Amino acid sequence: MAENNKLLEVKDLVIRYETDDGVVEALNGVSIDIYTGKTLGLVGETGAGKTTLAKGILRLIPSPPGKIVGGEVIYDGKDLLKISEEEMRKIRGKHISMIFQDPMTSLNPVMTVRDQIMEVILQHNRISKKEAEKRAEDMLELVGIPAERGHEYPHQFSGGMKQRVIIAIALACQPKLLIADEPTTALDVTIQAQVLDLIQKLKTRDNTSMLLITHDLGVVAQTCDYVGIVYAGEIVEYGTLREVYKDMRHPYTKGLMASIPNLVENVRRLQTIEGLMPDPTNLPKGCKFSDRCKYATDKCREKVPEMVNVGGEHMVRCILAQQEK
Ligand code: SF4
Repeated sequence: MAENNKLLEVKDLVIRYETDDGVVEALNGVSIDIYTGKTLGLVGETGAGKTTLAKGILRLIPSPPGKIVGGEVIYDGKDLLKISEEEMRKIRGKHISMIFQDPMTSLNPVMTVRDQIMEVILQHNRISKKEAEKRAEDMLELVGIPAERGHEYPHQFSGGMKQRVIIAIALACQPKLLIADEPTTALDVTIQAQVLDLIQKLKTRDNTSMLLITHDLGVVAQTCDYVGIVYAGEIVEYGTLREVYKDMRHPYTKGLMASIPNLVENVRRLQTIEGLMPDPTNLPKGCKFSDRCKYATDKCREKVPEMVNVGGEHMVRCILAQQEK
């Protein structure tokens, strides 16, 4: 992928939370690139650090207890971690938008849905209220909601419809990057597919880049160009969808794949990865997967393995990959 297609670059991002139980090492030096018009899927278990990364990009980490202690987030030649809060407000919603998992917590219950879409349009554009109203209604139609329902309140919509409203708000200003954090998890399966299709359609229309956070490898296979596997606050495998799915190298990625029914052929019993993710206040010194990995040796526990390029854009954080290289 050509360098000039890079839209956003996260370099070595480190985020901590100070809690009564100790310091939570939520993100431990994550680097990702997001390219124009492409989708990067971040996959991992709950608590792996995916949402922390998304919130870190938008500087939405509650502080205290959270703190970005290192790294850079480069967008349009600027480090978003260094600009003023006022500049950051102009970026949020207009350049980078986020869709959260639960539509209920993202919508304002006492505002009509049209007014909520208008609000973001008026915040970022110098246009009349009338024009904003027209644009809001167009956005509603675009996401499959009749414009005349714009005067209704969130509680008058089903879960899937509410998520459509959220999508309309997130895309109302045609952002360059959409961050979608488990956008369909709270919805039932048939609605999930419709909402994913809608996101894909609108993304293609505007050539929007997307960071899609999910625990569902099936969703990634359908929607992503790149994939990053996240474990205990680190990316452990990264590459194009094809590179990772055709030639997975990290034992954790292999475990995740083996636990997905629709990606496994002729397997009678699905496998699960034994054990739990390590306590983020007390992470192992070396490879963070070592407590659960059947290939672990003393060497794995000495220091954190480096990311190794195993061909193309495919990177793996495992000493076995170093040896196989
Ligand atoms: Fe397993 Fe060692 Fe590779 Fe970690 S570095 S995934 S413990 S083989």
